[in-house]
This record gives sequence, C-alpha cells and structure tokens, in this order.
Amino acid sequence: MEIVKEKAAIRNIIREAQSNGRVVGLVPTMGYFHEGHLQLMRRARSDCDLVVVSLFVNPAQFRPGEDLAAYPRDLERDSEMATSVGVDYIFNPEVEEMYPEGHETFVEVEGLSVMMCGEFRPGHFRGVATVVAKLFNIMPADKAYFGQKDAQQLAVIRRMAADLDFDIEIVGVETVREPDGLAMSSRNIYLGAEERKDAAALYRSLCRARDMIATGERDAETIRAAMEEELSGLPIIKLEYIAICDSIFLQPAGQLRGGVLIALAANVGKARLIDNMAFEIE
Ligand code: AMP
Repeated sequence: MEIVKEKAAIRNIIREAQSNGRVVGLVPTMGYFHEGHLQLMRRARSDCDLVVVSLFVNPAQFRPGEDLAAYPRDLERDSEMATSVGVDYIFNPEVEEMYPEGHETFVEVEGLSVMMCGEFRPGHFRGVATVVAKLFNIMPADKAYFGQKDAQQLAVIRRMAADLDFDIEIVGVETVREPDGLAMSSRNIYLGAEERKDAAALYRSLCRARDMIATGERDAETIRAAMEEELSGLPIIKLEYIAICDSIFLQPAGQLRGGVLIALAANVGKARLIDNMAFEIE
C-alpha cells in the first residue's frame, strides 16, 4: 500500500493500470476509518484489479462553525486499516493540491441539494459534488463506491455523474452498524457514554417504520408520528428532520409506494448523526 499526495502521480497510476486492461475501483472518504469504510474497500477489492482510496477532509463541504478543524484525522491508523483489506493506494492530497489559489469553479446539483440535509447545511452538497467531480477527473476509475448511509449524498452523486457524463459506475454499499444498530460514523467518537447509548434510538425509530411498513402501513404521517414517539423522552436527541420521500428525487411521499427512503438527522451532543432505510413497496 502506497500513499500518494499528488494529482499527477495518482492519475498516471490509474491511466497505466487501465491501459493494461485493469479495472480500477475508487473509494472516496474523509478518513478516520471504521468498519463502514472497510466494507466499501472490501467490495472494491472483490470487484476490481486496482483499488484506490481517497482520503481528503474537504473544506468545501463544511460550513463555518461546523467541525472541519475538529474532524478526526489519523493517517497512520487509516493506512494500516486500508492495508489490512488489500487497498493498493491512498490518495491523500493537501488542501492546496485540491484547491490551489484562484479556484472558483463549483458543481451544483440543484434540486437534490436543497431539502433534508441541504436545508440544514446549505452549500454542503455543492462542496460534495465539487470534490467528487474533481476526484473523478483526477482518478477516472471504472467504479466508485459510496455508502447508502449517506443516502442524499449518494443520490446527489448519481445525478451529478449522470448529468456530467462521467463514465464511472456508481456502486452503493449497504450501511454497516454497531451491534445496537447505530450506523457507524467517524463522528461517533464525539459521543459521550450517555449520548452513545441514546443515539441507538435513531435506528430503533427506523426499525419502527420498517415494522409498520411490513404490516401494511402506507401513510407517511402515521409512520412519522410513530418515529417521533420513539425519540420522544430522549432530550439528548435533537431531531433535525425525518424525511419520508421517494428514493430518486427525494420528494416527500404521502402514501408510500415504489422506491421509498426514510431518512433522519439529529444532533446528539457534538455529533450530527444521520441514518436511513430504503424500501421497495409494491
Ligand atoms: P466519510 O469518510 O464519512 O465521508 O465516508 C466515506 C464513505 O463511506 C461514504 O461513501 C459514506 O457513505 C461511507 N460510509 C460512511 N459510514 C458508513 C457506514 N456506516 N456504512 C457504510 N458506508 C459508510
């Protein structure tokens, strides 16, 4: 496993691999790996001949006052973890390498970026779409792997890749969870013991929705009310939103049918946590 800091160097590595007929997989991350990241890397490892992980804490997707400076970083630990699952390269550029002075071009996925997390983090998905487009240009892989945990991000990236004609297959990977159901996240380290315990209620509220759907409930407001009830009585959980919407355009659903996404976000202590479940309803 090798760490590459320069765009030109990683681009050459990928070009050469592809000219030898090798299939290249890319896993974009912000580092501080956990089992969720490793799952993406394993999937890329089993599908592809060459696996590149990008590790870049992207300033463009943080708003002023968010946790850019505090975001956990540990390249040595990350390198060991990536090595353990057979990653070939980590692309770990400095901020100046990605955004040299004078940078002023941004990618905006208009409709999908404004609701849900976009409402609470204006500009966030502009930063995400911009950095992922740049990563795709620097590393024109054959396949790129993203977690379903960040469902809105995945929808934005699918749209961006299609709209800008990137010839890269976007692969969504299922959410990896802690034993009590909490979705794994680099931000979970911000949680104190009490917060960590209560944070599992987010998953329980999604399970409540899942169980209601399984027994035939189709009314979004009834499901939302039950989810809110599951979280009530836990003042540590400051709910931002529960969205019940279609899974492609993320438009609010009244009666559930077809591809449905139920997603939520909450602040728990210093951590902003998100989670979701997707359903295919007859
Ligand atoms: P991040 O480093 O948090 O930006 O995440 C990098 C990639 O890992 C993104 O595509 C995330 O959706 C994905 N990811 C993060 N957490 C999980 C998880 N618990 N399960 C599966 N994928 C995840």
